[in-house]
Amino acid sequence: MHEFRYVGDEFYCEGVRVSDLARRYGTPLYVYSRKTILDHLTKLKKAFASLAPLICFSVKSNSNLSLLKLVTDHGAGLDIVSGGELYRARKVHADPAKIVYASVGKTRQEIADAIRYGILYFNVESIQELGVISDVAQELRKNVRVCVRINPNIDPHTHRYITTGTVDSKFGVDLETARLIFLNEPNFKRVSVEGIHIHIGSQITQASPFVAALKRALGFIDHLKRIGIVVRTLNIGGGLGIIYREEQPQTAREYADEILPLLRGRKLRLILEPGRFIVGNAGVLAAKVLYVKDTPEKRFVIVDAGMNDLARPSLYGAYHEVHPVAAPKSGKRAFLKKSDVVGPICESGDFLARDRQMPLYGCGDLLVVMGAGAYGFSMSSNYNSRRRAAEVLVSGKNACLIREREIYDDLLRHEKVVEL
Ligand code: PLP
Repeated sequence: MHEFRYVGDEFYCEGVRVSDLARRYGTPLYVYSRKTILDHLTKLKKAFASLAPLICFSVKSNSNLSLLKLVTDHGAGLDIVSGGELYRARKVHADPAKIVYASVGKTRQEIADAIRYGILYFNVESIQELGVISDVAQELRKNVRVCVRINPNIDPHTHRYITTGTVDSKFGVDLETARLIFLNEPNFKRVSVEGIHIHIGSQITQASPFVAALKRALGFIDHLKRIGIVVRTLNIGGGLGIIYREEQPQTAREYADEILPLLRGRKLRLILEPGRFIVGNAGVLAAKVLYVKDTPEKRFVIVDAGMNDLARPSLYGAYHEVHPVAAPKSGKRAFLKKSDVVGPICESGDFLARDRQMPLYGCGDLLVVMGAGAYGFSMSSNYNSRRRAAEVLVSGKNACLIREREIYDDLLRHEKVVEL
């Protein structure tokens, strides 16, 4: 469910024509629907209402300040993974009591900043890290709470780059290490080890891996109880898949229906960390056709957005639907031809769509890459010295620029010309 659709021949985001946005703000342009974001947040809240979990939006999926403000104003907390994401959280005055912080490589400085801000939990990923958190907490004379991220060794059947809970992944600790952490809590001064965290991967479309991971975590919690250790919090991470192509991912309700019965009767505070589920289908990337090149093999539709703007196709071979902003007249549909939509970057891996049957595009035509709201702008770069795109948030008939397009001076801001 999202708020992007054709009205007649024109592609709209809520009540606004995407062609008008492209004219006003230029391309490439990320366009987000406020209503879609809030709908997804509400669906998750409602599905889990009986446990009233803390829903921490995963900042890495889309870290634009306006979106962070939007979700936090609607009750969400934030899941962060770096000092930079903490900085963003502070900029929107996110409630520190609703912030959780994962990452296998938190630096002392990042840990200190997060302690000073008073975040709810560090999701700890190694014993060494816990030692550093304890050191820093003692230096600052502050008490901190942590959850232990366990690696449940469950294969979520998603792309291997976004699989995070199998035994060969760098994330979390095995159950024996987690047990040692709980048993040795008194040795980690100023640290209270309160919960368990799991996050097994992203774009998971079936409930079964979530259920398997949860059962493993609950089994571990029961084991700890038998040896006298009470776990108060369970963070089940993010990972809910969305529709990019023909997937039929579980809905929030179906997900909750699998998860909630397993938690019934347990006095656990539940935390969720959705990213993609909230913003993935709430954003598109609008681009303009620069050239159309026919080769004996196929057609290349060369657009002004590239892998620096949307890395997912190149990085994961991810599939994103591509649609024309002005629907082709029926006559033109007859000219479907196998095409790649590619960017201007000097890499053969620079594509947004491959081997699609596409209508005729002409120079200057606009198209949209669907499902670009998560891991789109937040993964973008300046590769090939390209300026990063602008971002617009639409609400009803209104649209607001929420990030200006970079200018060339932005590319040079931190550089110096030296002669040695
Ligand atoms: N939590 C953690 C620890 C993550 O690493 C991620 C993403 O990688 C998320 C939550 C969000 O995942 P998703 O966007 O799939 O919901």
